[in-house]
Amino acid sequence: MPFNIPFLDLARYPEDLKNSLREKFSEMLNAGLFSGGKEVAVFEHKLSLYHESPFAVACANGTDALEIALRALRIGPGDEVIVPAISWVSTAEVVCLVGAKPIFIDVDQTGLIDTSKLDLVISARTKAIIPVHLYGQMVDMPRLMKYVSDKSIKVIEDAAQAFGCQLHGKMAGTWGDLGCLSFYPSKNLGALGEAGAIISQQAEYETEIRSLINHGQLLRDEHLTVGKNARIDTLQAGFLNVLFESFEAWQQKRKYLANIYWESLKDVAWLTLPPKAIDGSYNFHLYTIQTTFRNKLKDFLKNSGIQTVIHYPTPIPKMIPYNDGQTYPNAERICNEILSLPLNPWLTENEVLYICESIKKFNPNSYF
Ligand SMILES: *Cc1c(COP(=O)(O)O)cnc(C)c1O
Repeated sequence: MPFNIPFLDLARYPEDLKNSLREKFSEMLNAGLFSGGKEVAVFEHKLSLYHESPFAVACANGTDALEIALRALRIGPGDEVIVPAISWVSTAEVVCLVGAKPIFIDVDQTGLIDTSKLDLVISARTKAIIPVHLYGQMVDMPRLMKYVSDKSIKVIEDAAQAFGCQLHGKMAGTWGDLGCLSFYPSKNLGALGEAGAIISQQAEYETEIRSLINHGQLLRDEHLTVGKNARIDTLQAGFLNVLFESFEAWQQKRKYLANIYWESLKDVAWLTLPPKAIDGSYNFHLYTIQTTFRNKLKDFLKNSGIQTVIHYPTPIPKMIPYNDGQTYPNAERICNEILSLPLNPWLTENEVLYICESIKKFNPNSYF
């Protein structure tokens, strides 16, 4: 077997980057500051500059970012929140955590919330919609924002997979009322552990969000609301300040490798490739193909030394805690047909070419 290609191997960070991270760790160890402090302020400043947003609040992880966003918008018991049938489970989980009810909506053929079906799920209790920019593809935000413009429904963008994505030149996370980011290690900008952030174009949310992530206090020992401890780990903020420097170069590499996939696989009749962004500004988080021969292909690639992942095998409303007994035809089809191929800045061009060659060798009708 000529290759052994993991889906994502973060041990492949280049040595000079590893050294910069080691230096940052030494610096923080010497400074003796492990909660809050300069690294957190610097990271938040970088985030708000990058998104041209008046503020950014870094927090413990992307799931907390979503939960805090719901609480900042005062969403709770008796309220309904519309969530796409396919996402990482967090998107629906947080709605339950604040005591509200997730209302699922089917996705389109690419896995994104199907905005044409909103009328079917909206009710007098609908307080918010959480569009998910799945795989780093962006939801049609102009259409969604227009839809809610004459309704009192808030929009929380789940941009966990969409750091660095733009649509019409506007960043993911800056279209809705609040935007939630994740820096989980496998995301495009990943920490060396858990981290997340909340951004908004509306400055007035900052105080409430800062208070909610820190036990309902803005000043020490003055607890004005019930919050939680959802602060970012200072070490992670420090590492993210280092990693952020590489982000643009990583995006270029992802884009370059994704283009190899598109070029090499475009004539494979039994495959559906992911959509290309209209203006080329998606972040290539995952390269997710679709085929009715998914399980056979996954198996065949595994035997060729290539690891693939399914994002995700089950629609959320088909999972035990969220089961609502309804059918979601597109979500159910997609969950059976999707397969994410390796795509990250640490893959070589040769590895991607080998993956493409292997896929072309696969004969769906003769492989059992
Ligand atoms: C990763 C992810 C989250 C959660 O982020 P964590 O930092 O892992 O808590 C939420 N939504 C989506 C779509 C994600 O991919």
